[in-house]
Amino acid sequence: AKEQGRNTYQFYTEGMQDREVMRLELDKDLSKALANDEFVLFFQPQLDLESGDVTSVEALIRWQHPRRGLLSPVEFIPLAEESGRITDIGRWVILAACRQLGRWKNGQCRNLRIAINLSGLELNDDSLVDHVRNALRSEQVDPSKLEVELTEEIFIQNIEHNLNQLSKLRQLGVQLAIDDFGVGYSSLGYLRDFPVDLLKIDRSFITDVTERHDDAVITRAVINLAHNLGIRVIAEGVETEEQLQFLRDHRCNMAQGYLISRPVPARDLEKALAKGILSTGL
Ligand code: C2E
Ligand code: CA
Ligand code: CA
Ligand code: CA
Repeated sequence: AKEQGRNTYQFYTEGMQDREVMRLELDKDLSKALANDEFVLFFQPQLDLESGDVTSVEALIRWQHPRRGLLSPVEFIPLAEESGRITDIGRWVILAACRQLGRWKNGQCRNLRIAINLSGLELNDDSLVDHVRNALRSEQVDPSKLEVELTEEIFIQNIEHNLNQLSKLRQLGVQLAIDDFGVGYSSLGYLRDFPVDLLKIDRSFITDVTERHDDAVITRAVINLAHNLGIRVIAEGVETEEQLQFLRDHRCNMAQGYLISRPVPARDLEKALAKGILSTGL
């Protein structure tokens, strides 16, 4: 047992060291990733449940790492937040999303909106709003085509600053969505004090929504709360037909998840829409 304990311990420290080495290495690589143009946006369709059309897509960043292949944001966004590189990455995301909207302006994708993710740290940046304005202008994009997804964390710290940033974004005409709604530990007061366009019900409530009574109750309550406040609702993480039917039955406005499509490169999205696998209603 002692022998085993020692091995376990060694294994554990080795694991820790590996992770630390990998972290440092990734952080170093991250410093070159922007200059080397290694980031790419994938797009996941958001389905309007009333019309049955894809009316928007969420932009999800990936890192095409020269040696490790395609990396998920969960592997590098936290790192980028620690080092402060998130600000520059966020600026790239904003510009890339606006460029995509610019490219889609005249084709079958012309009605699509793009939702981007911004972390609380990105909201700290005082020049964020200028950057968004400039990106929209340089690509000549209608601001209402851009949506920003933010988590409730922004209503816990720096509240005044964050609300100020949000109202400036909204004055530009950008739409605001609350991401991962229901898991953020913030009060609901902001829904009264601040105009939000969209609530995204967190995937953790949707996963078992057709099996667990409590998840169904919470999901219905969130939909009703939002609707009574004049806010639209989207459910994330929809993986089954049963979940989709539940959401339709309870008048959820939109749905997003693997059932409809995984996040895909822009070209794949365009092809799927062209083939009529997904419809924008044109
Ligand atoms: P999120 O904003 O909550 O995005 C949803 C995540 O759930 C995405 O993971 C998406 O691929 C995944 N997903 C979508 N549908 C399903 C489903 O049906 N089942 C399951 N199991 N998962 C589903 P992804 O792309 O790995 O992104 C993870 C997180 O990284 C995002 O969570 C977001 O917080 C962050 N992120 C992604 N792109 C950006 C970005 O450009 N900037 C910032 N700051 N954060 C980003
Ligand atoms: Ca999101
Ligand atoms: Ca989410
Ligand atoms: Ca999430």
